[in-house]
Amino acid sequence: AVTASNSLKRVDSLCPFCGVGCQLTYHVRDNRLIRVDGRDGPANEEKLCVKGRFGFDYIHHPQRLTKPLIRKEGAPKEQMDPANPLSHFREATWDEALEKAANGFKSFKGPELAGFGSAKGSNEEAYLFQKLIRTGFGTNNVDHCTRLCHASSVAALMEGIGSAAVSAPFMDALKSDVIIVIGARPAQNHPVAATYIKKAVKQGAKLIVMDPRRQALSRFADHMVQFKSGADVALLNAMIHTIIDENLVDEEYIKTYTQDFEKLRSRIQSFSPEDMAPVCGIAPNEIRKIARLYAGAKRALIFWGMGVSQHVHGTDNARCLIALALITGQIGRDGTGLHPLRGQNNVQGASDAGLIPMVYPNYQAVGDKTIHDRFADFWQAELDPDPGLTVVEIIHAIQARQIKSMYIMGENPAMSDPDTTNTRKALASLDHLVVQDIFLTETAMYGDVVLPASAFPEKTGTFTNTNRQVQLGRQAVDPPGDAKQDLWIICEIANRLGLNWSYDHVRDVYREMASVMNSLNAITWERLETENSLTYPNDQAVLFRNGFPTETGKGRIVPTDLIPPDEVPDTDYPFVLTTGRMLEHWHTGAMTRRAGVLDQIEALPVACLNPKEMKKRDIEAGDIITVSTRRGTVDIHARPDRDVPPGMVFIPFCFKEAAANLLTNPKLDPYGKIPEVKTCAAKVEKT
Ligand code: SF4
Repeated sequence: AVTASNSLKRVDSLCPFCGVGCQLTYHVRDNRLIRVDGRDGPANEEKLCVKGRFGFDYIHHPQRLTKPLIRKEGAPKEQMDPANPLSHFREATWDEALEKAANGFKSFKGPELAGFGSAKGSNEEAYLFQKLIRTGFGTNNVDHCTRLCHASSVAALMEGIGSAAVSAPFMDALKSDVIIVIGARPAQNHPVAATYIKKAVKQGAKLIVMDPRRQALSRFADHMVQFKSGADVALLNAMIHTIIDENLVDEEYIKTYTQDFEKLRSRIQSFSPEDMAPVCGIAPNEIRKIARLYAGAKRALIFWGMGVSQHVHGTDNARCLIALALITGQIGRDGTGLHPLRGQNNVQGASDAGLIPMVYPNYQAVGDKTIHDRFADFWQAELDPDPGLTVVEIIHAIQARQIKSMYIMGENPAMSDPDTTNTRKALASLDHLVVQDIFLTETAMYGDVVLPASAFPEKTGTFTNTNRQVQLGRQAVDPPGDAKQDLWIICEIANRLGLNWSYDHVRDVYREMASVMNSLNAITWERLETENSLTYPNDQAVLFRNGFPTETGKGRIVPTDLIPPDEVPDTDYPFVLTTGRMLEHWHTGAMTRRAGVLDQIEALPVACLNPKEMKKRDIEAGDIITVSTRRGTVDIHARPDRDVPPGMVFIPFCFKEAAANLLTNPKLDPYGKIPEVKTCAAKVEKT
C-alpha cells in the first residue's frame, strides 16, 4: 500500500470527495502531494473524475490553519472582517486552547450542549465524536450533514424495509434492463457512478431520468421526465396507480415479501395519471409508458438523490419509490433494488457509526431501554435516555437559548444550513463555540476556540461509500505546522472532560466500534489492510434476497398523500429557486474552492436560468442579477442554462460570495427532519 523510490512515495488511499469512494494512489515528494492516479477499486476500476484527479492541492493552501486560535477578548462575532478574518483571533498553544475548549464545555449541562460531527471524517472519528458528546457532554444532541442529505430516505427505508443502506451497488446498473434516476444528477455529483449508468445504456438498458431540470444523463435517457418541482408524489403515485390498475404488479412477490398492499390499493385510486398530470406537468400517456417500462423490466434499479429527499415531503417521496420496488418485486435480485446515492464520501459510515441524535452505532435506538443500558454499561457512562435534537432543531434551540455551547468538527453550517442568516446569528449567539477544521471556514469565524485539524490525506481511517463498501484511507503526508489529527484532538478534549480515554492507534478505535456494530462482524482491520475494500454485511453486494430485516420479515408498503411544497411561486416571488452542487465543487466549497484547477474552472458564483427567461428580462450571460426570497438576497452572475426550465433559477451552494442558503427555506420534513432546500419561491431582477 505504500511504496517509495527516488524520494517519491506512493500511498494507496481514497478520494476525499463524493460517496462513490474511488480508490486512488497519492504520489508524494517532500511531504507534498504532486499527483493522483486512480486505482483498481471495486467502485471505480481506475477511473477518477475531475475532483478526484485534480482537486488535491487544497491541503497545501496557504490558508490552512496551522496553530490553535483563541478569539481575542471583546472581538465581536457579528462583525467579522471578511478580508482579514484572522484579525479577531490570537494564536495559542495546544494546552491553552484545549483547556479553554474543555473548560467551556464543563460550565454547561447536558441539554445546553450539542455537537456536529462530519461525514468528511473517518468512521473512527465519527464514532469517537458521538461517544464524546454522549458520554462527556451527557446529551444525544449530536448530528451531522446526513440531516441535510438522506435523512428522509433513511426514515422511509427504516420504516419500509428495516435497513437504510442501499440494497445493491451502483455497478449493478450493468445488470439492469431499466434504470430510473430521480432527483439526482450523477454525472455532476457522482461522476464515476454515472459512467456505469452510461455503460448500461450502451449495453441496451433503458434509462428513465426524472427531474425538474434536464442534465448530462438526459442525452442517454429513453425518457426525460421533466416534472414540476415538488410534484414527486403526484408523479410516482400516478405510476403506482398505472401498475396496479393494469395489473402489472408481482402478485407472488407481494404475497410472500410485503405487507399493507391492500391499503395502498385503496388509497391509490385518487391518483390516476389523468388526475395527476396537471399537478406534475407530465402527460398521462408518458406516465403510463414509464410505469409499464419499470414494472415490465426483468431487472430494474432506482437511483435517487437530494431532489427526492430535500422536501417537506421527502420521506413520502422515498416511500413511493420503496412502494414501486415492492409491488413489482424489483428488489432482492442482481440488477434490481433501491440506491439512494450518498453525497459525502463518508455520510454512510458516519451515520452507521452513530453520528445521529436518535440512534447509537448501527441504528440502535437511543429510546430503547435495553439498548440504552447496554451502551451505558459498555461505555461505563450515564447516558441521556432521550433522543437528541437534529441539525436544524439545534439551531432553533440555540435561538431559544436552550443550547449555549457547541463543538463543531468539520461541518460548515454557516454555509450548508437553510436560512443561513438565522443560522449565523445563532452561531454568533453561542456562549462557547469550539470549531475543529482545516480552514477558518465561515463557521469557524464564529468560534471562541478554533482547533487546526488534519486533511483527508493526512490521516488513516476507514470510510464507507454509497455501496456499503468499507475502505481504508491511508495517511500520505503530515499535517502542516502544529495542526493535529482529529482523533488526537477528540481524545484530548475527552480526557480533559474526565473520560480517561486511551487509544494507541486508529485500529483500536475501529475494533471498539466494530464490537458494537454487528454489520462489521466480518470486517477486521487486518482484512482491510490487505483487501482494501469490504462490503457489509458479510460481503453481500445485493441484499434482501429472502425478505427484509423487519419484525415480520416483510417489506411494509406505506401509502402517501399529496403535500405541496411549503412555498410555491406567487406574484411577489414568481420563480422556483432550487439549489444543489456542481461538478467541480463539492458541498460548501471549503476544499474545492481552494483547489487550484477546480477553482479556475468554476471561479465565480452563478445562478442558472433558462435562456428564454434571460431574454425576457434583458439579462445577458455574466450580468449581475439579484435573486431574493423571503429570507434573503444575493447578487450573482447570470448563466444561461437550457437544462433549467423557464420559471426556475438554480444556484449552487458552494459560493460563499453569494451563499445560496441565505435564500433557502428551513421548513422541515416531519419524519426525517430534513429542510426543504430543494424548492422555494424567489424573485429574479437585473441588478
Ligand atoms: Fe472522487 Fe467521487 Fe469523483 Fe470518484 S466520483 S473521483 S469519489 S469525487
